[in-house]
Amino acid sequence: VKCGNYGEVTEKESYVMLGEVVPIPKSRGQANLVQKCKFCGREGTITMLPKSGCYLTGDD
Ligand SMILES: [Zn+2]
Repeated sequence: VKCGNYGEVTEKESYVMLGEVVPIPKSRGQANLVQKCKFCGREGTITMLPKSGCYLTGDD
């Protein structure tokens, strides 16, 4: 994933799942992925939109 702050790209793989929801720190919202950027320390979030896109597997 790419940080929206300065554009750093993580080397480790990340995944998101529609059924996996976590609270966003210091917020009332929820996201499918909350990940802290190692470079700038900011927390980024990914929220999937139900009924859009298609299923992807590890092979994709
Ligand atoms: Zn960053």
